[in-house]
Amino acid sequence: MARSHTVDLSGLLAGSRQRILIDDEVALEPFEDISFVGPVSVHLEVQATDGLLHLVGEAAGTVGAACVGCLEEVERPMVVAIDERINPHVGREDDPFGEGNVLLGGRLDIADLAQQVLLGALPMRMRCSEECRGLCGLCGTNKNSGACSCETGDKRGELKMENPSQQDA
Ligand SMILES: [Zn+2]
Ligand SMILES: [Zn+2]
Repeated sequence: MARSHTVDLSGLLAGSRQRILIDDEVALEPFEDISFVGPVSVHLEVQATDGLLHLVGEAAGTVGAACVGCLEEVERPMVVAIDERINPHVGREDDPFGEGNVLLGGRLDIADLAQQVLLGALPMRMRCSEECRGLCGLCGTNKNSGACSCETGDKRGELKMENPSQQDA
């Protein structure tokens, strides 16, 4: 795991007033059904204000997931603004699910931050388009790519093929 994209913020945590600029590209592991297509770029300014770390910038990347209608892979480019205040005194040990978990030992984990930001902005249900017609409930054909025989009204042909004995009786 080459997840060495961390930035030392111990100076800020010790009270430095300086502004730290971060420009990084990170490759993110897939998260559940969500994949990241290509690296995610992160531009960030970090400052300590009032005992909190103030992160301002953006994360940009392309997210891939299956369309909830037709299950085709959808790729969606995303640019998400970051404007977060992190309490550096709440660490991973105290609150493993809190926003502070992007900090570990005075270092900011860029990949963790980028992942949280992009996943947080992602719609719950991705669709390939507003007009996605989904899959046919009978034969599973992707209806975006054309009508299947279930839809064309060609019922006689289907009956003959599927139930020849019933028709004879
Ligand atoms: Zn779709
Ligand atoms: Zn069908």
